[in-house]
Amino acid sequence: MEFNLFTFVFLFAILTSVLALLWLNFRQDKAINNSYNSVPEGFSESIKLEDHQKAGNYTKAKLLLNHFEIIFSTIILLVWTIGGGMNWLDIYWSQKITNPILMGTTFIISITMISSFIDLPFSIYRTFILEHKFGFNRMTIKTFIGDFFIDIAQGLIFMVPLIYAVLYLMGLEAIRDFWWIYVWILFSFFILTMMWIYPTFIATWKNKFKPLENEALRSRITGLLDRTGFKSDGIYVMDGSKRSSHGNAYFTGIGKNKRIVFFDTLLKGMEDKEIEAILAHELGHFHYKHNRQRIFSSLTFFFVSFALLGYLINQVWFYNGLGISKPSSHTALILFSFALPVFSFFITPIGNLISRKHEFQADAFAASHTDANDLISSLIKLYKENSSSLSPDKYYSAFHDSHPSAVLRIERLQ
Ligand SMILES: [Zn+2]
Repeated sequence: MEFNLFTFVFLFAILTSVLALLWLNFRQDKAINNSYNSVPEGFSESIKLEDHQKAGNYTKAKLLLNHFEIIFSTIILLVWTIGGGMNWLDIYWSQKITNPILMGTTFIISITMISSFIDLPFSIYRTFILEHKFGFNRMTIKTFIGDFFIDIAQGLIFMVPLIYAVLYLMGLEAIRDFWWIYVWILFSFFILTMMWIYPTFIATWKNKFKPLENEALRSRITGLLDRTGFKSDGIYVMDGSKRSSHGNAYFTGIGKNKRIVFFDTLLKGMEDKEIEAILAHELGHFHYKHNRQRIFSSLTFFFVSFALLGYLINQVWFYNGLGISKPSSHTALILFSFALPVFSFFITPIGNLISRKHEFQADAFAASHTDANDLISSLIKLYKENSSSLSPDKYYSAFHDSHPSAVLRIERLQ
């Protein structure tokens, strides 16, 4: 194997991102320690020191796990690429399967399968040790194993035809040089279809959805929908308690296929008016078309990415630099999907910055259609029940957080 300049660029990008991530974690850990013995200003009445310290310990435990994940996943990435893992698998399958599209599909699927088994110890630790220790886990071993196989089944059912079709287009003589535009169209169509069928079909594989029964809450919600001019395909309660005691709510789907979903764990601790405020926040995202903007920007990102892949696929240095000896469509695809996050890592703060701006807008929308105090009290409950830290480090938060801290959101609402 001949490594080249690109190998060093790749290694340098990995090293920089790992150091940046560890440094941010270190800062976050320090920020938690510094505020450990006092509840942030303005929260002393609503949050007990005991709860605040629990949130601190929970955050620190998650950071420690994340340290290991960062280092471990980097080692795995290196083993796959310049370590020769992928190259070995490529040679292995090419000796067994002669049809190039079938061979390429098998190659990609086997890599994703192996990766999900490699991740397994981390999700076991997270669920049964970390979440369990802080009293959040509700998942039984049976549910855990069931989920694992559902994920694999979903992967096979949806990914195999998609990868097969993509590799078919990549090898088509008639659209040579422009295959990436066709692949992008197919890919976009696939994503939009998945979003459309998610609420009524895919989500039901793992969870049960029941129409909301609470009459008083139903009429409150219908009133809010009328006032804000929204239509939904139904209001549902999801059995989130089957897995975790963390609560959440979402408004999902596209087009006419929209659903309002509340986790049963959220409904338990909240008053009706607080739930209404949370829903108003979700509607705010739709009102300002945040969801549509997000879809549009990811499709644009994919367009640029596929164009770049259209160039890289013909560059031998791209393959050799990342440990592949024999260029092909399927190795280009998988190398690209492994290498892209290493470089796009540096733009993640931009996405989160926009997301935090959207959260403030949605909060403002909720405040103008419901009582701001209801949203404030629901936020405090949410932060308390999810044990989120109230005093994150500002750099850590700027980089990682898609939601502003509770302190900032409540300050604005007041
Ligand atoms: Zn939001």
